[in-house]
Amino acid sequence: MNEALHIKRLCLIGVGLIGGSLLRALRQAGVVNEIVGCGRTQATLEAALKLGVIDRFEQDPAKAVVGADVVVLAVPLGAMESIFAAIAPTLSSDVVLTDVGSAKASVVNAAEKVFSELPAGFVPGHPIAGTEKSGVEASFAELFDGRRVILTPTSRSSKAAIERTRAMWQACGAEVMEMDITHHDEVLAATSHLPHMLAYSLVDMLARRDDSQEIFDYAAGGFRDFTRIASSDPTMWHDIALANQEALATLLEQFSLDLQKLAEAVREGDSDYLKNIFTRAKQARDAFCGTQGRGMKGKGRVTRDEGRGKPSEKRKS
Ligand code: NAP
Repeated sequence: MNEALHIKRLCLIGVGLIGGSLLRALRQAGVVNEIVGCGRTQATLEAALKLGVIDRFEQDPAKAVVGADVVVLAVPLGAMESIFAAIAPTLSSDVVLTDVGSAKASVVNAAEKVFSELPAGFVPGHPIAGTEKSGVEASFAELFDGRRVILTPTSRSSKAAIERTRAMWQACGAEVMEMDITHHDEVLAATSHLPHMLAYSLVDMLARRDDSQEIFDYAAGGFRDFTRIASSDPTMWHDIALANQEALATLLEQFSLDLQKLAEAVREGDSDYLKNIFTRAKQARDAFCGTQGRGMKGKGRVTRDEGRGKPSEKRKS
């Protein structure tokens, strides 16, 4: 047991892909004594128990958090406020309360609506790791290994709570950094939320065509690579789009303008314009892929991100 971290009782609300992976990693690291799972569906919690991901479960969040020294919320963004409201009366005064939501301002706003004063133990967080799959069955202990976790402490977060949250993620093999809440949402809008919108939109546009069957029949590896993240959970991405509305809408509008210019260049046969775009983009992507694996632990490059699969599912583009 790592005495610096040592969690006596961890309560996880939302035992799915991210929450389940966190629990598996913490168990593997040997830093937690008891894990209480909580969620809305009994079958999910029974499955988690059977998989050995949790030790016991409660369906009532207010009961689940009693006596927990660490509470993690891993539910969709749209459920955060109701969970905060349910647990507020029974949280221990010295609890470390954190979450894994993909947008941070909305989680802090939800907490502000519930708590008269944000708890000193509240440290919002976001692991930059995931797959297009959902549910506890898809969870695995290595998901966060060598990946980044961004903490966005509030002005009320205590140093001790930040350090404990940092230590929890480090025990999962993650590299932990801190970021301002608004900046987090702007950065993630560009790196994760916009690509998901583009993938969903492209697949939907093609699926609505009369010849969609033929299009999908002849789709090759490039189409599969580009659109894999369109298999992600619709509820989760609905919540993310609405939780990061401003930053995401701004980027989508900018992207539409660029796309319009690209369409004009194709129609007019503007080969300089096309070559410039493709060359700049190739250079930028090659540079990004060349640096992506550096500083990571273990066996070379791991290409998971919010939408990518296990290392074994890595494909060449
Ligand atoms: P997931 O696999 O669908 O797990 C979500 C869990 O929350 C499920 O166990 C679900 O239970 C439970 N849940 C849903 N609504 C609930 C409610 N109202 N009350 C209580 N429990 C509820 O989703 P996930 O991918 O782990 O995502 C969870 C969180 O992680 C989200 O906030 C997301 O933004 C964030 N995140 C996701 C990724 C990613 O790539 N997936 C990456 C980073 C962060 P049921 O069995 O009843 O559905």
